[in-house]
Amino acid sequence: MERIKNDILQLSKFNSTPEKGLTRLSFTKEDRGAREYIKEQMKEAGLLVYEDSAATILGKLQGEIEGGPAVMIGSHYDSVRNGGIFDGNAGVVTALEIARVFKENNIKPKYPVEFIAMIEEEGSRFRGGLFASRAMTGKVTRQTLDKYVDNDGITIAEAMKDFGFDPDKIEQATRKKETVKAFLELHIEQGPILENTKADVGIVEYIVGIEEIEVTVIGRPDHAGTTPMTMRKNALDAAAPVIANVSKFALEAGEGTVATIGILELEPGAANIVPSKVTFTVDIRSRNVECINEVKDKIINLLNKETSCEIQTVQKLFAPPVKMDEQIVGDLSKYCDELGFKKQMMLSGAGHDAMVMADITRVGMIFVPSRGGRSHCPEEWTEFEDLQKGIELAYCETVNLSK
Ligand SMILES: [Zn+2]
Repeated sequence: MERIKNDILQLSKFNSTPEKGLTRLSFTKEDRGAREYIKEQMKEAGLLVYEDSAATILGKLQGEIEGGPAVMIGSHYDSVRNGGIFDGNAGVVTALEIARVFKENNIKPKYPVEFIAMIEEEGSRFRGGLFASRAMTGKVTRQTLDKYVDNDGITIAEAMKDFGFDPDKIEQATRKKETVKAFLELHIEQGPILENTKADVGIVEYIVGIEEIEVTVIGRPDHAGTTPMTMRKNALDAAAPVIANVSKFALEAGEGTVATIGILELEPGAANIVPSKVTFTVDIRSRNVECINEVKDKIINLLNKETSCEIQTVQKLFAPPVKMDEQIVGDLSKYCDELGFKKQMMLSGAGHDAMVMADITRVGMIFVPSRGGRSHCPEEWTEFEDLQKGIELAYCETVNLSK
């Protein structure tokens, strides 16, 4: 456990905001520092270390079957601004530690194992997010690299070039399906379920699907004193039934469906004017796309009953649910029992690289507890004992998948 703790603490030093949480953006000197540390550790574990053309670090352990499909394990080491030291890093440290144990136990796998560390998962610098896994699955083109810019107007292509990578080669990062056997990712839960159920580890069954809609209600701005109640076109009155019922609709849909109004804006926003325009977003997530549709349909039905105002709805985002590989889920469950860990089958309410990798291979995800369910903040914490258990579980499955 000392090694894991040391990795986490060493990595936490590559941080542009040491006074407030961890900030490590992609293609920066903090990325460089963490990158050198990770590569060094991989070399010490006897891996063949290289970087793909999307700047993902890969440490390869050769298998008996030369050129066989690889079992991949890893996560990301970029961070949000002022985030915590475990998000992503926990999964990278998992890969480092498993590589060391393979060496110590002198395990010669039949299939190659690739230990990986990715960047720009959070999209904190260029906003896209899931960059490395998207590149690996062929979704990042040369044009994409010119499209996304950071706050200083620097494109991904320019940042890559400055960092020593050739943007013209980005498509070489794409992996053919035949070259990957499976992808495993350990991540902190970033929610309160494991702590509340006192489980040691979470086994993810689905990464939820997500739909975000933006609703705009247009009424008329009238004087709040001189316009009788019966003669108003109050946009807030029209929006209110939806706002009041969204949580109920999510509960009614069941299957762990959640729905959130995160943005709510009133115009013109004056105490003495009837609101003429209300804009709000609804973020709906579920493992079952039918539940997402059910919530959405109920919202649209309510809005359609409204006659005094004009209503517009726009779909801002849609990603279908991703099911984790049943065999891997079953294996993880079995190893949990053998190791004597208390497990919790669960959904991932957040997106992860594993979700993208599911396009080309079988994926599995392990969650470890987050203290107070907190994440993306300086208070983010996972006990090292808990991380250790998650790593032991990931180790068993890595050995299993590669034999
Ligand atoms: Zn993460």
